[in-house]
Amino acid sequence: MNHSKHTDISRHPCFNADVKGKYGRVHLPIAPKCNIKCNFCDRKYDCVNESRPGVTSNLLSPAQAGIYVDRVVAKEPRITVAGIAGPGDPFANGEKTMATLRTVRKKHPHILLCVSSNGMNISSYIKELAELEVSHVTITVCATDPEIGRKIYSWVKDGNVVYRGLQGAKLLLSRQLAAIEKLKQHGITVKVNCIVIPGINDHHIEEVAKTVKRCGADLFNAMAMFPNVNTPFGDIPQPAPEMMEEIRSSAEKHLPQMRHCTRCRADAAGLLDEDKTEEFRGCLSSCSA
Ligand code: SF4
Ligand code: SF4
Repeated sequence: MNHSKHTDISRHPCFNADVKGKYGRVHLPIAPKCNIKCNFCDRKYDCVNESRPGVTSNLLSPAQAGIYVDRVVAKEPRITVAGIAGPGDPFANGEKTMATLRTVRKKHPHILLCVSSNGMNISSYIKELAELEVSHVTITVCATDPEIGRKIYSWVKDGNVVYRGLQGAKLLLSRQLAAIEKLKQHGITVKVNCIVIPGINDHHIEEVAKTVKRCGADLFNAMAMFPNVNTPFGDIPQPAPEMMEEIRSSAEKHLPQMRHCTRCRADAAGLLDEDKTEEFRGCLSSCSA
């Protein structure tokens, strides 16, 4: 299969800051469930794998997502990327995610396809992701030391088995690092998102960048945690801009750093600096009706 039209980053506004004012993305909110529990997440909101907590998205079926992409690109032809980023994890809803990607790929052979995941359950889907020419994948890795990871994740679920504490953190980490390696073996561009949580992992972010680089990651996005009072980390304040700048500079010694992330919602649409999520809300609701 010829991957050339999808392997460059020149049309992806998140992976290439130079085109953030030129091209846009649409997120397809199709994935409600999650297979891990991050201590900064309130399940009523969208996943921070790729989005900030916001109002819960309308959920689409794969067929509805296909129609939604048709309508959005007809209205905003500068949208070059369709992504799946939640509101849960795409591969806790693996069959639905793959059905959506197949539908969109068939209807829009030239669109860039992108997914964001916690990495827990992506592995068995990577071969088909490559076949569908999914060119960009984000894996969110908040710790590469399981002793830190255990403070961030209350549990991880593998099939029907739930793992907690160190065991859960170790399992998740091994899946994440293996996923990055396997994605790279399949020629997919990999960004790693890392949520910065003051007092928990803020001293550890450079180490995360160094480790994921060794696995082949292409780009790093240190993101400030968005505090949510309904979560175990509800009392932890959002990291200050100075702290984020220092952290990004240290991570940048190892990997190029995304500095223009706007922490979009799982149903975001439009250009990063010219967001049209609200404008397309009617379109999204009519597709999900
Ligand atoms: Fe929430 Fe996303 Fe973490 Fe799942 S991976 S618990 S949806 S932040
Ligand atoms: Fe791009 Fe960040 Fe928005 Fe994801 S959350 S689409 S990386 S700007």
